[in-house]
Amino acid sequence: METKSTLPKKFGQYGGQFVPEVLMPALEDLEKAYISAQQDRAFQEELHNLLDSYVGRPTPLTFAQRLSTHCGGAKIYLKREDLAHSGAHKINNALGQALLAKRMGKSRIIAETGAGQHGVATATACALLGLKCVVYMGTVDMNRQAPNVARMKLLGTEVRAVAGGSQTLKDAINEAIRDWVTNVDDTYYLLGSALGPHPYPTMVRDFQSVIGQETRSQILDAENMLPDVIIACVGGGSNAIGIFYEFINEKNVSLIGVEAGGLDISGGKHAARFADSSIGRPGVLHGCYTYVLQNEDGQIALTHSVSAGLDYAAIGPEHTYLREKKRATYTHASDAEALHAFQLLCELEGIIPALESSHAIAEAIKLAPSMSPETTIVVNLSGRGDKDLDTVLDEIDLKE
Ligand SMILES: *Cc1c(COP(=O)(O)O)cnc(C)c1O
Repeated sequence: METKSTLPKKFGQYGGQFVPEVLMPALEDLEKAYISAQQDRAFQEELHNLLDSYVGRPTPLTFAQRLSTHCGGAKIYLKREDLAHSGAHKINNALGQALLAKRMGKSRIIAETGAGQHGVATATACALLGLKCVVYMGTVDMNRQAPNVARMKLLGTEVRAVAGGSQTLKDAINEAIRDWVTNVDDTYYLLGSALGPHPYPTMVRDFQSVIGQETRSQILDAENMLPDVIIACVGGGSNAIGIFYEFINEKNVSLIGVEAGGLDISGGKHAARFADSSIGRPGVLHGCYTYVLQNEDGQIALTHSVSAGLDYAAIGPEHTYLREKKRATYTHASDAEALHAFQLLCELEGIIPALESSHAIAEAIKLAPSMSPETTIVVNLSGRGDKDLDTVLDEIDLKE
């Protein structure tokens, strides 16, 4: 068998490696190790077994009958990543990379987290595999996401507070990269979305593409045909690329990514990188060239979303490429639309979705009525909403 020694570093003109020179050898080592792991049967089997016996894969594909009837039109199916261990798709990637780190002989894992979800997934994988784990988190985020800080600590992870800058995710990223530069020999940097310098966007996509692979066989079982539309929310873009990737060559399957529309697009209070050309344009963030929300001087713009996981200034480079190639389309849902979708799913299906995933549901609700009853939509339900109850209860009134 011919073995590849490198992977493409870019998606069209997007992606690449914009990192300090000292990290280039580490990225090269990572790419080599990843390619060899991909071709190693034993590695793939170990990962597959853990996804099966620990994460609970395959996650179900659920026909949302009452939601579909309520909307009228297309049948809506939900890919249930909310049922994956630790409550979201993030564990698929955290486990894959932690296994890779172990294979590379690294003894220490570092990560950064904003909302805490990636920190929890990483802490979970490290506890399982017996790896030392340090997670960087801005102090503002630590206060906002106290339960996730507690979870990480319970899982044996050290959470390091970052008090500089805006004390949020981008400052935590800077600290994590500083740590990596200093400790690159024994330390593995575990990135949480389809972002960052090559090979991360490719690797994260591959670890998440199990979502789309399962979806294909499940929808074929249920409907005997591929879906007409697949919808996923897009923060950095990992759950979306994870469900899209399997269908990229299926030209009759529409792929729709949903960004966080926040309060409104015109006021700048959102995280919709593709929707607002006044601040969303190509630039470099987190080591890669992609669409970034920024001001005229290239300073990263402050973003807003009711869902912490979509509240990020950059989008994964493969999405920028798919959009440019017109293979996927990108739209946005506002905070209010997401909250409405959240409540509908609770009341009609008995599922409390993550606020991130609620953005994808909001788009399905808009689209389904315009489609015929023979058509199907699959929504990637990226996570469960238990983590969001405080936020939701601040925003809506419960029925008496
Ligand atoms: C983190 C998160 C997201 C956003 O991240 P992507 O990389 O865009 O998938 C979406 N949904 C949930 C539940 C999350 O925790």
